[in-house]
Amino acid sequence: MKAPVDILVITAHPDDAEYGVAGTVARWVREGRSVAYVLCTSGEKGTTDRALTPEKLAVIREQEQRAAAEILGVREVDFLRYPDQSIEDTPELRKHIVQIIRAYRPHTVVTTDPYRRYVWHRDHRNIGQVVLDAAFPFARDHGAYPDLLEKGYEPHKIKELWFFGAEDVNHYSDIAETFDLKLAALKCHASQMRELNIEDLNEWMRARYRNLAKDSDYELAEAFHRVKLPG
Ligand SMILES: [Zn+2]
Repeated sequence: MKAPVDILVITAHPDDAEYGVAGTVARWVREGRSVAYVLCTSGEKGTTDRALTPEKLAVIREQEQRAAAEILGVREVDFLRYPDQSIEDTPELRKHIVQIIRAYRPHTVVTTDPYRRYVWHRDHRNIGQVVLDAAFPFARDHGAYPDLLEKGYEPHKIKELWFFGAEDVNHYSDIAETFDLKLAALKCHASQMRELNIEDLNEWMRARYRNLAKDSDYELAEAFHRVKLPG
């Protein structure tokens, strides 16, 4: 069992959380809330460099993710090491995610939106679906996995689910004060941004999160579909 956290962020790949939720994570940590990251893969297929082996890239990307999490004040980072580009909505993965949710007992779970249309990484779509189903009702119901119960994984009711990458946005999070931390965390993922120089990245990121904020009261925002779960 783990020490409980307030917020559990479950993603497919290293850097997903930095793009989607890192500004909000930094704010939550400043407010005294605890955050843990769970990554289903180590992103070992995320390169155009044919000389870089998947094994080497996995090690690099895990290091990059840990460095990013440290900048943000994330308490724990777990890698499940499923194969990159192979996340499927299977009973086995759903059970694994239920086990993790019951171990961390979070108030809020954050993941990628499974309902984004057309061009969307299959891993993002599938992990979003698996996390949604694991959160409700499987993590909540004692009868869902009798063997987990026997091992001490008690049912857990999550209060909220936040999805990033959503088309159907219903919640904006102000990241003006934590944008620099988000940017610093993103820059840790150096293996993913060889073509961009740092100045271009700064500008590109500001434009991206200013654009996400355009229908909100904020200058820079992360955008979510936020769901409150029934009690
Ligand atoms: Zn990704």
